[in-house]
Amino acid sequence: MCGVYGIWGAKEASNLAYLGLHALQHRGQESAGIVSSDGGRLFAHRALGLVQDAFDQRVLEKLPGDRAIGHVRYSTAGGAGLKNAQPLAVDYAGGSLAVAHNGNFTNFEELRARLEDEGSIFQSSSDTEVLVHLVARSRERSLVDKIVDGLRQVEGAYSILFMTNDELVAVRDPHGFRPLCLGTLPGQNGGAAAVFASEPPAFDLVGAEFVRDLSPGEMVVVDKTGMRSLRPFEEKERRMCIFEYVYFARPDADLGGISVYEARRRLGETLAEEQPADADVVIAVPDSGVPSAMGYAKRLAIPFEVGLIRSHYVGRTFIEPSQSIRHFGVKLKLSPIRRVLAGKRVVVVDDSIVRGTTSRKIVKMLRDAGASQVHMRISSPPTRWPCFYGIDTPSRNELVAASHSPSEIAKYVTADSLGYISIEGLHRAVDSAGAGTTNGGASGSAGHATATGTRYCDACFSGHYPVSFSEAPLRAQKRSLPLSTL
Ligand code: AMP
Repeated sequence: MCGVYGIWGAKEASNLAYLGLHALQHRGQESAGIVSSDGGRLFAHRALGLVQDAFDQRVLEKLPGDRAIGHVRYSTAGGAGLKNAQPLAVDYAGGSLAVAHNGNFTNFEELRARLEDEGSIFQSSSDTEVLVHLVARSRERSLVDKIVDGLRQVEGAYSILFMTNDELVAVRDPHGFRPLCLGTLPGQNGGAAAVFASEPPAFDLVGAEFVRDLSPGEMVVVDKTGMRSLRPFEEKERRMCIFEYVYFARPDADLGGISVYEARRRLGETLAEEQPADADVVIAVPDSGVPSAMGYAKRLAIPFEVGLIRSHYVGRTFIEPSQSIRHFGVKLKLSPIRRVLAGKRVVVVDDSIVRGTTSRKIVKMLRDAGASQVHMRISSPPTRWPCFYGIDTPSRNELVAASHSPSEIAKYVTADSLGYISIEGLHRAVDSAGAGTTNGGASGSAGHATATGTRYCDACFSGHYPVSFSEAPLRAQKRSLPLSTL
């Protein structure tokens, strides 16, 4: 997963981009980068690690100009490493171009093979570089037409920003998998600066105002003549990623007119209806499990307490990527509050189980702190399928729910019971959080359009992938491992 940020027409644009990226840090911690422009040339800086480590005042001073795009990266296609850090910046026959991409192109391997056959040389293993080649090789005349030409050849998920010395172009793919928002900030000479960000809280930090979500398939072009919105792509079914509401987005964000916080609270309430437990206390796995745990506790009238605290000084980079370090990482990240847990029947609410290793450690931690029973409740359905649209879920054989039932997983994580929300419950809860909002956001479960016609991608739970792709990666992931080897 990644976060993107763009700003056009504001003094010290790179400083504002730095702050915007800081607000999007949760979307990626492996690398951060900013490319700015003073209208004459592009200036770039990318580094591994957190935004605050990648940049300091000295670096930002070397990124002049009133326009900039930025990126925080959590690798999916292409892996980690500085060579895959974004924004990419290239010089081609048409000038200089920078690109910041959130999402994954599902057909990038075929496209890359074709381009390599034709003589293209790649510097990175990221899917985004394929698009840069397609844009640079396009026979169209204008940048906008070249971008459209390139994007028409890729499939999959993209919320993407392009910047040259003369234009900033923001595009959201026709399914709208990943969020992308437009904001405005009082700019130079009384004008307003245009701001783009993956999530609205990135506007708040710099004093920009949220204007609206980009629509799926929309392209917004900003240049010296102003801003225009284009619809260059064939219309497709809306398929915003439902996992953004479950886990990925910030709880203070509104996406598609739905408050992420409210969605999580409703997930907890629905989970309580579907998977009640007889317990003394409800606790959350912080931070993402908190609103759902509150909803769960309220619905069953069980006290909600803080039973686990999270260290805010451990970056995710610290615990990635090796499995052995990940085991150690849970203890570094979470500590139990014995006074809340000792002698209690505890419900612990988390947002998801991926491999199951975190849950197993947490259950042990709660028992070691004196809990008499531990009932695990998960505010998303079993994660059975990998994501090919930008969330870093591992291959199928590492997803514990791909090959094991909830009761088998309960045994593995050593919980007294384990309950997941259903796929229908998930959709119902997110829908109900959107009900009554002005620009809709109502959804339906796969196959059921609702009033606004908005639907979600729930492929990681249902296996219904909205965009087809070559069978090869899926076939490779069909094998499953017994629990004992996890
Ligand atoms: P696991 O130990 O693999 O089961 O990890 C489960 C934990 O990872 C849960 O507490 C989730 O909050 C978190 N999680 C879920 N999806 C992701 C993701 N794509 N990237 C990082 N963490 C995740």
